[in-house]
Amino acid sequence: MISLSKKIVVTGSNRGIGYAICKRLAEDGFDIVMIDYDSEVINTAKTIKTENNSAEGIVCDVSDYSSCQKAFEYYNKDDIYGVVNNAGINRDTLFINMNYDQWDKVIKTDLYSVFNITKTFIDSMIKNNCGRIVNVSSASWQGNIGQANYASAKAGIIGFTKTLARELGKYNIKTNAIVPGFIKTPMTDNVPDNIKDKFIEKIPLKKIGLPEDVANTVSFLMNEKSGYINGTLIEVGGGLVL
Ligand code: NDP
Repeated sequence: MISLSKKIVVTGSNRGIGYAICKRLAEDGFDIVMIDYDSEVINTAKTIKTENNSAEGIVCDVSDYSSCQKAFEYYNKDDIYGVVNNAGINRDTLFINMNYDQWDKVIKTDLYSVFNITKTFIDSMIKNNCGRIVNVSSASWQGNIGQANYASAKAGIIGFTKTLARELGKYNIKTNAIVPGFIKTPMTDNVPDNIKDKFIEKIPLKKIGLPEDVANTVSFLMNEKSGYINGTLIEVGGGLVL
């Protein structure tokens, strides 16, 4: 349990991994700002509020810089401690079939969002001389067939993470990335069973991960006990990538 009021912003949090992250951080005692472009996030926030924390939902398209600026224009950012850049989408298809829209939408949602949201809160974190940034990448960052758009965005996140770790360390802000493998969420629910089985075969632990597996790792990275970890990637994939 933490003693000070500390607020953490989590993007793409109305469902899946983002929701699990918010729930876990709320249980840890953090105040939570849930961001999603689904307006249902306002009600979803009520489900993670506990006696010890506050939770609010904010509707914002994180792929759009002006939407982020507008959503937080009059917001008091003084007690922002952490940012979790989790929002992401995929539009998988072979590069030869990929159209500009599929490229553009994924790059904007998965990579530009990381700039847009971090930029929104970074001045306050620097002023506080403390903070944590956790960026959610993917095992696909090393390249994956059918994911030229997604892999490019997720690799970009790694470069961003390592750069911020170098630039912001002197302000006591630690920046790290999580690299999930195959996690059971609405994003992966429509993957055909035969493909899922192939993944399970490749995973040494022989099972698909749960959103809570990622959430527990974010909780660790937000905890003061992980305070000397900066600029690293933590794989949460049961050994999918070794
Ligand atoms: P989901 O699709 O289940 O959830 C993503 C959430 O992000 C949704 O609530 C969605 O809103 C929201 N969102 C999407 N675009 C925007 C936007 N422009 N602005 C605001 N909110 C947005 O995905 P997961 O939980 O599976 O994935 C979370 C992260 O983890 C992603 O970055 C993904 O790439 C990454 N990841 C996931 C893996 C997996 O196996 N699931 C593996 C590796 C990485 P809405 O519901 O309205 O669409």
